[in-house]
Amino acid sequence: MKIIKSPLDLKKHLKELENIFLIPTMGNLHEGHLSLIKEAKKISDNIILTIFVNPIQFNSNSDLECYPRTLDLDIDLLKKTGVSILFNPSVKDIYPTDSNLSYKLPIISNQLCGKSRPGHFKGVVTIIDRLFKLIKPSYAIFGKKDYQQLFLIKKFVLDCRLPIKIIEAKTIRGNNSLALSSRNNLLTDKEMVSAAALHKQLKICTESILNGAKINDAELEAQNSLINAGWKLDYFEIRRQTDLKKPSYNDSKLVVLGAGFLAKVRLIDNIEFCIPTTI
Ligand code: AMP
Repeated sequence: MKIIKSPLDLKKHLKELENIFLIPTMGNLHEGHLSLIKEAKKISDNIILTIFVNPIQFNSNSDLECYPRTLDLDIDLLKKTGVSILFNPSVKDIYPTDSNLSYKLPIISNQLCGKSRPGHFKGVVTIIDRLFKLIKPSYAIFGKKDYQQLFLIKKFVLDCRLPIKIIEAKTIRGNNSLALSSRNNLLTDKEMVSAAALHKQLKICTESILNGAKINDAELEAQNSLINAGWKLDYFEIRRQTDLKKPSYNDSKLVVLGAGFLAKVRLIDNIEFCIPTTI
């Protein structure tokens, strides 16, 4: 595995590669990230994994500073995976002058996670745009754990007619069903136990709806349970899979998404589900 820091060096290596498969990450790698590499290997031998903690997608300096950075451990982990290139640029390399983005994000980017994190998704799409322009991959993969992010990146690729196939990866969970996340490392043992409640409530909510409960009632029940369990809830909502808008009568492909804080740590999760008709 080659470790490359400068975009100029990267460009030299890219000349030899076809069918490039890009895996963007912010590092502090875990089994969720490794699952993306496994999916990539089914499609290409030329895998470029990037580690870049993108400052413009953070809403506060303290969140950016606290984000776990474990580059040496990440490199050790990656050596055994078959990744061809680890690209680990500096902020100056990615944003030498500015961080402008000409693409206008859809309104949905201001809802759900975007409501409490203004500018977050613009920051995400900006870094993805920079990486796509630099690397020109044929494929890129993103996890369904970050459901709204995946949706907005797919829309960006479609809207801009980019010749890049976006692969969706299922969410990898730990023993307590908690979605693996770099932010889990910031939780205390006690908070780790409380964290499992988010996935539990997502499951209970989907089951209630499949058993005939009304969407609003199921959402409210889960919201109250999480608040009572000590969560500072950001949102817990059912949306349509296709456009992330609120469901209406007869929508069947749905997703329930939740986000909230345990102490200072923000966690998100979701479950897709289908019903014959919306109640
Ligand atoms: P991050 O390093 O958190 O920015 O994540 C990099 C990529 O890994 C994103 O596409 C995430 O959606 C994906 N990812 C993060 N956690 C998981 C997980 N538990 N299962 C599957 N994919 C994940």
